[in-house]
Amino acid sequence: MRKKYGRTVKHLSDMFDVIKEENEFEHIEINVDDISYQSLIYDENYIELINQFAQKNEVTLSVHSCTDLNLGERVDRIREAAFKITMEIAEFCVKIHATYLVVHLGYCGFHSNARKKEQRLQMVMNDLYSVLTFLKNHGSTLLIENQKLVEYNCYKSYLGDTYSDFEYIDGINGNKNIGYLFDIGHYNINNERTSIEFINKFRNRIQAYHVHRNDGVRDLHLALNDEWILENSELHNLLLQEYKSGKIVIFENYSIEEMKASKSAFQRVDM
Ligand SMILES: [Zn+2]
Repeated sequence: MRKKYGRTVKHLSDMFDVIKEENEFEHIEINVDDISYQSLIYDENYIELINQFAQKNEVTLSVHSCTDLNLGERVDRIREAAFKITMEIAEFCVKIHATYLVVHLGYCGFHSNARKKEQRLQMVMNDLYSVLTFLKNHGSTLLIENQKLVEYNCYKSYLGDTYSDFEYIDGINGNKNIGYLFDIGHYNINNERTSIEFINKFRNRIQAYHVHRNDGVRDLHLALNDEWILENSELHNLLLQEYKSGKIVIFENYSIEEMKASKSAFQRVDM
């Protein structure tokens, strides 16, 4: 199993620069920031360019779906549009031979522990299986990313923002195989259970990690540093084990310098 550290690319168009730069990551996750008709996901030359780059540099790719899409939208025809676009992103995924497509489930207009949230999760999961099937048939797969838990708010919460949401999702998922991408930064915000508990519980479904640091309140996407490694040694060791077993560890920071800094802090194990 090839071990992989990954970086993210925030804008589709940033790939034009990435292919010219020195690359030190085994994996690149491309964020789909544009879903207009002019988006690069529909551009065959762009797709060709990425494929050549990946092959030449022996990097694997993944795609982060557009975060503007609310897959949990209550109004059918808006949700249908969100799923139609998600399928087009899945087609892009297949064309660039991406390892996986990662999605945010979206949000709903009530607080996180409202009972009707389960219905909404059920609805999203049902609709997601066609995306999963399409991806699986083409050698890729689908992952769900956990979201941050916003402070008690009657009007909004994210789907997949808590440990209990994932217990519920897992129950629906059953023997089907939508995987999870665990974002340790999102999870660090307001959650009751620890990241270690989450990983141990859902380890067999988790295929990749988003790793970044914050103050427990704001989703800052800061680079890891030695202090963080010391304070979170148990989590760090668990993530290292996961990395060694072939799970992709992606440093999700805002600049390449921060992603490199995160990587070198993460690798410093002899502390
Ligand atoms: Zn993330």
